[in-house]
Amino acid sequence: MTGTGIVSAEGLAPYASNPAFSRGRRYPEPEAPTRTAYQRDRDRVIHCTAFRRLVYKTQVFLNHEGDLFRTRLTHSLEVAQLGRSIARSLRLNEDLVEAIALAHDLGHTPFGHAGQDALNECLRNRGPQDAPDAGDGWGFEHNLQSLRVVDELEERYPAFDGLNLCFETREGVLKHCSRANALRLEQQEPGGVAWRFLHGGSPSLEAQLCNLADEIAYNAHDIDDGVRSGLLSMEQLAEVELFEHYRRLALTHHPSLAGRRLLFEAIRLMLSDQVYDVIDTTRERIAASGVESVDAVRAGPRLVAFSEGMRERTRVLKIFLLRNLYRHPQVMETTQRARRVVSDLFDLYMEKPSEMPEAHGQRQHQARAVADYIAGMTDRFAIREHERLLGAVLFP
Ligand code: MG
Repeated sequence: MTGTGIVSAEGLAPYASNPAFSRGRRYPEPEAPTRTAYQRDRDRVIHCTAFRRLVYKTQVFLNHEGDLFRTRLTHSLEVAQLGRSIARSLRLNEDLVEAIALAHDLGHTPFGHAGQDALNECLRNRGPQDAPDAGDGWGFEHNLQSLRVVDELEERYPAFDGLNLCFETREGVLKHCSRANALRLEQQEPGGVAWRFLHGGSPSLEAQLCNLADEIAYNAHDIDDGVRSGLLSMEQLAEVELFEHYRRLALTHHPSLAGRRLLFEAIRLMLSDQVYDVIDTTRERIAASGVESVDAVRAGPRLVAFSEGMRERTRVLKIFLLRNLYRHPQVMETTQRARRVVSDLFDLYMEKPSEMPEAHGQRQHQARAVADYIAGMTDRFAIREHERLLGAVLFP
């Protein structure tokens, strides 16, 4: 179905995604009288169940460790804010950016990456034997799971499973995909969202933008949360050129600034500069590429990017966060317990599917059904289920 109704293309660049020329929805639906297709997608995401669960899902720190740490929900809102801000100045489609940003983490498991790794391992060990012809492949990939949530797992509408989002929103949600899973997706939807993982090319500029906004958001908020938790110090961060540059800059503007306000100001300056850097660099790359349409964008290399200097400085920050925060002994210790919760639950539901709600227990492919059920859990629900079923208190 090609959209023809509401058009808000005013002021959009020729290479921006235009809802009037959407590649449409999997199940044709009449257009909404007052909203564009992408506004409608954004609204569907906000009203879905998986979106509300994001508030109780971990980003880096477990949800119950403190009220002020980022969760998947606040992270998604920050990505949407950064993305929209950049989109407006590049004359890209803000509504599409917002829809993708708010949906991009819907498939995340409880306990952040620890949960995902554990679930992936469980599925790799059990998946092929249990689901030899499961059409959606083996292993667990959170991007693919986000697509599963919006395509299949949400149960809200009378006529179809999922949220029936537009191609462009789904394309942005599927940020990465393994070749094996791309082949399976391509079979179900020839020429669809998995095509580019098999034949090359890029997603829309709005999707590319969400990808980078995601990275900008988590680098900045992980510094903030890291210092808040006491696992990182500003003294330690002095070795990161990117951060140190803005800390000094903050002090030249406000010599008496210290403590949290100094941290916030340094992060704020860093965020602004990264945003301006992306805008300038992307503008130059778009001009140099000569793209005049979304199709031309899809056929070419990625255009939304940092400058080389900013890319390198960001890389150093990421390595610092990996070594000093994500692999901090205290984080690793929590991670170990989280992995155990997930793998214990997986084994238990495989053995006793009746412990899952009926709808999950009756699905055709048990390993995948168990993975879907666990992936949908919030941190605290997974912890409670683990206590209920295994009697072990891993997170007192
Ligand atoms: Mg994210």
